[in-house]
Amino acid sequence: GPGGRRRRVGVMGGTFDPIHHGHLVAASEVQAWFDLDEVLFVPTGDPWQKSDRDVSPAEDRYLMTVIATAANPRFNVSRVDIDRDGPTYTIDTLRDLRASHPDADLYFITGADALADIFTWRDAEELFSLAQFVGCTRPGYEMDAQTLAAIPADRVTMVEIPALAISSSDCRDRKRRGEPVWYLVPDGVVQYVAKHDLYPQQTPRRTADH
Ligand code: ATP
Ligand code: MG
Repeated sequence: GPGGRRRRVGVMGGTFDPIHHGHLVAASEVQAWFDLDEVLFVPTGDPWQKSDRDVSPAEDRYLMTVIATAANPRFNVSRVDIDRDGPTYTIDTLRDLRASHPDADLYFITGADALADIFTWRDAEELFSLAQFVGCTRPGYEMDAQTLAAIPADRVTMVEIPALAISSSDCRDRKRRGEPVWYLVPDGVVQYVAKHDLYPQQTPRRTADH
């Protein structure tokens, strides 16, 4: 801005199936830590084919993300990945956001588990040139020393997030078992999941009596 520094934009990619308070706390911590002007939540596109599980439709994941972030003036949601065909690669996300935000420094926010995979990602070298990476420590995911040592120290900052042992898979499993997800995800997301019957409860299958 005029007389000011370059704009700083956080980029939080995820499946968000559903978005939960772990995602929101991580984004909020990184926003404050780096004094980000904005954090963009970027739900992934639909996978081409069913892989190991069915992912909820992109439009549902997008709307849950909008509902969860609507009250925070610094949080916004980008459709860049859901409007692109095919599976999402972070390199494409960052190339597209770089093009649409030419005057901003990008901070890609990722959990430590996802960061550990980074060297298996496509175009790892170019990734580091497009954004600063912020690795959020997350309970249950320890980074091995080899991975940590391989990360270029000037391109990645590790941030400790207050431990929230919440994952989307656990939220889905809870719904399927008929257990509550209140307070793990925002209230509006609880209501959206109920209204659209996402993660329907599986009726316990009767096993043979012995
Ligand atoms: P799933 O269980 O389906 O893998 P998830 O909870 O990991 O879902 P994603 O949408 O895969 O959610 O995560 C998006 C990003 O948020 C990833 O970088 C992930 O590491 C990070 N993340 C998820 N949960 C937390 C948490 N509790 N604390 C900090 N970061 C988190
Ligand atoms: Mg995950």
